[in-house]
Amino acid sequence: MSAATDLKSLYRQTVLDHSRNPRNFRRVEDADARAEGHNPLCGDKVTVFVRFDGDDIVDVAFEGVGCAIALASASIMTEQVGHETLAAARQDAAAVLVGFEPGEHTPAAPAGDMAALSGVRAYPSRIKCATLPWKTLLAALDGGDRAVTTE
Ligand code: ZN
Repeated sequence: MSAATDLKSLYRQTVLDHSRNPRNFRRVEDADARAEGHNPLCGDKVTVFVRFDGDDIVDVAFEGVGCAIALASASIMTEQVGHETLAAARQDAAAVLVGFEPGEHTPAAPAGDMAALSGVRAYPSRIKCATLPWKTLLAALDGGDRAVTTE
């Protein structure tokens, strides 16, 4: 298999796995920050919950409805930033969002499952599905209780 075929297959497996069995899919009643995000193009709606202790994130969870890509991206996000510092989570979110921008560039590589999800760049109309949870996370960290939209 070529590298491109490998990426597509890895992408499909990753999206299927996380969308069928999303990690940290739950409401957090005592969240320190939360935000709602909406992608009207696809109908994805996610609420992201964050609990932190000082500068350390101790819990990230989400709930909502969305397509497989939005759910997979949110699931992967909670696994990646769930035990990071607030600063590291912001850096990760910024790197992921840059990575989905059009054009040829090598972003500060997101690792693991998020790298697999970058295969969504082959489907430009679905990129907002993948970026929605990360934008919503940033909105939560920026002040909480804000609604964001990809439009
Ligand atoms: Zn979607």
